[in-house]
Amino acid sequence: MATKSPNRPLRPATLLVRGGQMRSGFDETGEALFLTSGFVYDSAAQAEATFAGTVEHYQYSRFGNPTVSMLEGRIAALEGAEACRVTATGMAAVHAALLSHLKTGDRVVASRALFGSCHWIVSTLLPRYGIATEFVDGADLAQWASALSKPAALVLLETPSNPMLEIVDMKAVCDLAHKAGAIVVVDNVFATPLLQKPLHFGADVVVYSMTKHFDGQGRVLGGAVLGSKKWVDEVLQPFIRNTGPSLSPFNAWVVLKGLETLHLRIPAMCRSAAAVADMLAERAEVARVLYPFRADHPQQKLAQAQMSAGGTLVTFDLKGGKEACFRFMDALQLIDISNNLGDSKSLATHPATTTHMRVGAEERARLGITDGTVRLSVGLEDVADIIDDLSQALDAANAAPARAAE
Ligand SMILES: *Cc1c(COP(=O)(O)O)cnc(C)c1O
Repeated sequence: MATKSPNRPLRPATLLVRGGQMRSGFDETGEALFLTSGFVYDSAAQAEATFAGTVEHYQYSRFGNPTVSMLEGRIAALEGAEACRVTATGMAAVHAALLSHLKTGDRVVASRALFGSCHWIVSTLLPRYGIATEFVDGADLAQWASALSKPAALVLLETPSNPMLEIVDMKAVCDLAHKAGAIVVVDNVFATPLLQKPLHFGADVVVYSMTKHFDGQGRVLGGAVLGSKKWVDEVLQPFIRNTGPSLSPFNAWVVLKGLETLHLRIPAMCRSAAAVADMLAERAEVARVLYPFRADHPQQKLAQAQMSAGGTLVTFDLKGGKEACFRFMDALQLIDISNNLGDSKSLATHPATTTHMRVGAEERARLGITDGTVRLSVGLEDVADIIDDLSQALDAANAAPARAAE
């Protein structure tokens, strides 16, 4: 029984369950886990033909494995991209996307508000190889226009950004980048392919940490890079094949099963995140709430033009700085303290002392991260339980200094 494939376009929920599946000769229902490092050949001639590229046959799991291929097919179908390669982590995906494309003498322009390790690659690693880099404030089109008035090879941006949920105007930046000769790489982790399709706005390459919403259940690390078939075959694939950031077939299988529920998990988490943002905005202890679809988000209109929902993260500032944040986080009875996100469990982070400690106070100030900033990844628990926990922790954090003074 071959895998069924109707001759009509399928919707995202269907693609997440069935996209990319390749049934083996055993007619299994679920995607098979090919936990093998290598493959065998019928004959020496078949081995020769495989290496010559005249016969299609798996060779070695560093650069191809059927379980990994199924995952790549599923993600590409969902994104509407011609090709996908998956990697062992999100950072391996970002690294491969950048290093496969760039060479000494090239210029990179990036938004300042990047995931910490992406920032390190651009600010520290690339200049070591003679690649010039320039950061801009992602929300400021004038800064993009000025940086892209000179030729560039690559633009890297993240929207919404971590942790301040800043939105970058992808269409405008892609137009400027293409005129400067650059390809645009979008880190779409916060939005997921269900809420935002960067390729529709002109992006050339999309990268994901599959560790976040794709697995979404706290089990495995993984990354994905998507782009045109030509770029993936000619630029990315030789780099991945020869440098080996490969995803284990086991982890690929876990993510394949995780994706089957993505279309159920993401809307539920978005609904809860929106309710949590509204609840936090009502609290006197909260100085400001950032949630892309709220009317008080400075870029609500742009967010609504690019995304179909506000996302699963809420960022807010507590009055009373670090002490208030620590009292609040330590008082949480349900929500965990963790630097991860996109998980079925709600997770709270204090960026200034964890994920953004190393960027330094000056850069944090530029990014708008204060000592009172908390990032909340809203999970799949009952939203009333999430809200109850946040409310009691805010009450407790408020009461604590009064008690201490007694
Ligand atoms: C987590 C994350 C990454 C890195 O992914 P890993 O799987 O942790 O290597 C990159 N970009 C963003 C926006 C992330 O949230």
